[in-house]
Amino acid sequence: MRVWSHDHLSFPLPAGHRFPAGKYGLLRERVEQAGLVGPGEVLRPEPVAWAALHAVHDDALLERIRSGGLAIREERALGLPWSEQLVLRARSAVAGTVAAARHALDRGIAMNLGGGTHHAGRDFARGYCLFNDVAVATRALRAAQVAERVLVVDCDVHQGDGTAQVLGPDAGAFTLSLHGARNYPFKRIPSDLDLDLETGTGDEAYLAALDAALDRALAAFGIPDVAFYLAGADPWEGDRLGRLALTKPGLRMRDDLVLDRLGELGVPVAVVLAGGYAPDVRDTVDINAATAAAVAARYRWNDTS
Ligand SMILES: [Zn+2]
Repeated sequence: MRVWSHDHLSFPLPAGHRFPAGKYGLLRERVEQAGLVGPGEVLRPEPVAWAALHAVHDDALLERIRSGGLAIREERALGLPWSEQLVLRARSAVAGTVAAARHALDRGIAMNLGGGTHHAGRDFARGYCLFNDVAVATRALRAAQVAERVLVVDCDVHQGDGTAQVLGPDAGAFTLSLHGARNYPFKRIPSDLDLDLETGTGDEAYLAALDAALDRALAAFGIPDVAFYLAGADPWEGDRLGRLALTKPGLRMRDDLVLDRLGELGVPVAVVLAGGYAPDVRDTVDINAATAAAVAARYRWNDTS
């Protein structure tokens, strides 16, 4: 299958920083070694145009990001040091999600080996998230008149506050977020449907909650034209930040549940990575690679295009 990866782009980080910069390259290597992609099927997204970002984000915020003019408190909230490379890489990650979403409309499912930057809102960039890729892709699909109604299934362990701010009030979008009740962000912006899960929630209770939440979201919103699935690896029991205690098999069942439910309804799904902060990055990569395998198993091969 075709996937997008921006792992060729790096940016300066202080030694010991907990952002898992290494996971992107390791994940690309894993999906190649597993034979999930063939030669030439890992595509490098070109940075998304600033105009596409302006369709979602505040002009003044984008100008500060572009010029390196973020205030000290903004850079602290972002959690990453500003650099031109950081901005270029973030624009490329967004482009990967836009491309994956368009590809999903053709193949039923597609994946960006990046993205899921759900803490970026209209006028703020925080929690390692500069731009909200899912919101930008939503607007891009509408501008291209290829999809209108969008469902966001956010299974990262952190609440999708930025997505909620941008797409919550959007009648053509439904935002569902399942997250740890005691995880960041501590000041929430409500999604259309938020599920706060207790610390230590394990596989069984999590899967039951997800199943019921999907029912509620689909009943409230109807069948969307496209869905975005944020397959965060941070609900894993060994994650440094997450508090939900899911096992790796449990996370695979989570992926299957989301992808089967949407697949049965004929909804194209664009899958993005979101977070993952295992002490050993290879554990995060295991989880992300299992998601990629779940995507590959559902990918509609189409030799005519
Ligand atoms: Zn997260």
